[in-house]
Amino acid sequence: MASRLARMLLTALAPNLRYRVRGSAPALYLSFDDGPHSRTAAILDTLARHKVRASFFILGNRIAGREQLLRRMVAEGHTVGAHSYSHRSPRRLNRQQLQEEHLRCTRAITAVLPNWRPTLYRPPYGHLSWNLLRCSREVPFDIVLWSRDARDYRAKSTHAIAHNLGTLEAGDILLFHDQFQLTRDYLDEMIPRYRAEGFRFEALESAAPSRPAIAPELTADCLPDRTGTIAGRRH
Ligand SMILES: [Zn+2]
Repeated sequence: MASRLARMLLTALAPNLRYRVRGSAPALYLSFDDGPHSRTAAILDTLARHKVRASFFILGNRIAGREQLLRRMVAEGHTVGAHSYSHRSPRRLNRQQLQEEHLRCTRAITAVLPNWRPTLYRPPYGHLSWNLLRCSREVPFDIVLWSRDARDYRAKSTHAIAHNLGTLEAGDILLFHDQFQLTRDYLDEMIPRYRAEGFRFEALESAAPSRPAIAPELTADCLPDRTGTIAGRRH
């Protein structure tokens, strides 16, 4: 991940790029990459048990056969974003290849969720390139990275995950993956703890008000208690 100074420079250059959510609300943003996975349902169960919303960055080539998981994500108030079609690093792709990767992924998502607009994109490995920044303005889409990495893919304990994340602050975007039991165990510990300190857990949304992440009709049908939150939130 880029240094703090590099992050500041990059976000100044590219307003549609985010490492964290700015604003005064004491909110944390859980995000899960690389699904849908055979164990994604277990993460959804964990989030439902704690009644928190999160964001899933989806790989287009993993959707087939797991369509119901995407429908469940949206029905339970989570955000579905794109994570490319086949997890190739943007540094290895030219502009046209980047657009194709993004388009194939978003088409695979909207084939399952016709009312959903996947305006959020997380590049594989968090890799950035000039081609990607250019592509994000042309399509357009928002690039969402993270401010805290759980490194759950190599953690041996929930303590290790907590150590990797450090002390969380309002606006932090937390990176997890949705296939690990340890991740679920950690969430069972941390959600009540941070909630007791006054934090809320929110799903990420598009920074551009003209491009809402959720189509209005879907909000009305599936997420009746979310309408006010969308209108009132400042990102
Ligand atoms: Zn990934």
